[in-house]
Amino acid sequence: MHAVSHRSSVATVLSVIGARPEIIQATPVSEALRKHCREILVHTGQHYDEKMSGAQIAATKLPEPDVNLGVGSSSPEEQVRVGTERMIELINERRPDVILVRGDTSATLAGALAAERTGVPLVHVEAGLRSHRHDMPEEYNRVETDKRSDLLLAPVPGAVKNLQAERVHGEIFMTGDPLCDILEGLRDQVLPAGGDDYLLATVHRNYNTDDKDRLQGVLDCLARSPWTVRWPLHPRTAAAIDKFGLALPENVEVLEPVTYTQMLSLERGAQAIATDSGGVQREAYLWGVPCITLREETEWTDTVDQGWNTLVGVDDAKFQAALDAPRPDSRPAIFGDGHASERIAEHTIALARKVNTAGPTDLPNEDWVA
Ligand code: UDP
Repeated sequence: MHAVSHRSSVATVLSVIGARPEIIQATPVSEALRKHCREILVHTGQHYDEKMSGAQIAATKLPEPDVNLGVGSSSPEEQVRVGTERMIELINERRPDVILVRGDTSATLAGALAAERTGVPLVHVEAGLRSHRHDMPEEYNRVETDKRSDLLLAPVPGAVKNLQAERVHGEIFMTGDPLCDILEGLRDQVLPAGGDDYLLATVHRNYNTDDKDRLQGVLDCLARSPWTVRWPLHPRTAAAIDKFGLALPENVEVLEPVTYTQMLSLERGAQAIATDSGGVQREAYLWGVPCITLREETEWTDTVDQGWNTLVGVDDAKFQAALDAPRPDSRPAIFGDGHASERIAEHTIALARKVNTAGPTDLPNEDWVA
């Protein structure tokens, strides 16, 4: 009797997105993967409204996801629980060779747990970043995902060091940052937003929005800007300002969340950027716009070491000092050479092919036909 598997001979990568930063950063990796293997693009549905998801998919030219798991906007724990359950069903149905997750969201952890439960090898893009802050759900998601990963693809050398120090079991490679690939690809096309001088702001971290005094501190910082503050408001932040009944400073111009192409243009034209976003800190650096981070710590420490990013928490005197500081003279390429996505695809496909050739006996839950 011969065992026959349903698995296709083409290596298949099930790649997971769920929230805005994952959607944005998926495009170049997806393009690189699809040249050499089959990609099943799965959206957990964590971000589902048009401005956070649909318009971003269109703006970044990401292929439409093959599957949407419809997880929605429940608590992070519920998003992970439901996302994991639905992903397991999908994995058992589609039988990918590897699962690729990115970043640090509920979708990332759901993908990692589903990989563990089905025995499918796991690839983590943007592995090894640490804030060392344990009240951040993102930190928990990253650490738990890295522990379960077979292939850890780190964007910067510091992330490699973190993973080595933690003695993770998977194989570690430095690839560079796909966000850098995107910006380098668009550098000649993105025009700086026009109009009067402005500071661009984004705020959405839970510890900045969930506490009234802390959020008031953010507003006090923004009030220091000598320019208009253009602020595309994240839905979580809009709800918190409303709930706490806070008044916006007079210099603030509120915008709806903008598409990625509009955001790049706003970043490029800004005098300075105030943010608590990981993606925006890197983009500010890549454009050469000074960044003031409304946090006490960052995962992207190289931007601080190079003098382009200042951590001020919500201290408005420190914010003012950062506004007044001169720009550094140099800006080395800390996020790679613009080819991270190709490296990510190469490592992922090599693992997928190894699994695919090894055959189904390597995986539990295989559906054997005798
Ligand atoms: N972004 C966007 N529109 C906005 C605000 C942000 O396209 O109105 C982009 C931003 O350029 C960056 C990404 O969203 O690439 C960052 O996502 P977010 O701040 O939600 O998450 P984080 O990077 O903190 O994980």
